Amino acid sequence: MDMVQRLSQIRGRVDTACARVGRDPASVRLLAVSKGHPPEVVRSACDAGLAMFGENKVQEAKAKIPLCPGRLEWHMIGHLQSNKVRDAVAFFHTIQSVDSLNLAVELNKAAEKAAKVARIFLEVNVAGESTKFGYSPEAIFADLEALNQLPRLEIHGIMGMAPWTPDATRVRAAFRRLREIRDQCCSHLGVPSMELSMGMSGDFETAIEEGSTLIRLGTAIFGPRRFARPVAD
Ligand SMILES: *Cc1c(COP(=O)(O)O)cnc(C)c1O
Repeated sequence: MDMVQRLSQIRGRVDTACARVGRDPASVRLLAVSKGHPPEVVRSACDAGLAMFGENKVQEAKAKIPLCPGRLEWHMIGHLQSNKVRDAVAFFHTIQSVDSLNLAVELNKAAEKAAKVARIFLEVNVAGESTKFGYSPEAIFADLEALNQLPRLEIHGIMGMAPWTPDATRVRAAFRRLREIRDQCCSHLGVPSMELSMGMSGDFETAIEEGSTLIRLGTAIFGPRRFARPVAD
């Protein structure tokens, strides 16, 4: 199956998941996770109509983005170290993986220097797995006010992952928790809505049923990652 066929299958599955819960399919956007794939693959995805791409390493993105069509919207979805904030602000439209006030302060400084406003999502670790990054659900509310006061940052959403488990109940519970956190953030910040970035190749239909507005798909679109050009980060 080629990418165009895989995309049409994915769109069908998105439509069906939306229909199950009475959502408009246009309310679920697709972020194509291109990590581990070269610029040629991004170009074909762009030709197939995709416009939003996700990368999880600044080094890889920095090498790749200049070789891709210029009109694409790039999202950082991997753990970000403070020493990479300058490049992150330069290369990404949105940084979805903000997981501490320290990191946000550094991003704010980098955005100020670049005379930009950086769009961020807050990453929340609802899976409770120590291998995953993100704010604990409690810690996020302690920082929210301070985060919101950083003049060069705009909080646009919440990002998270379900635990790695075949237990569908736990996966759904994690997505539900992320949605609650998103809703609480909206009311704390006094904004009507925020993005909810959740759902990957193995669990996006459940994520949609639980309210995802942005699914992040790699394998489902591109097939397995070959890591043909490993880039250290
Ligand atoms: C790799 C990755 C994805 C996509 O994973 P697939 O299972 O290939 O769809 C989504 N989100 C994050 C944060 C990732 O690192």
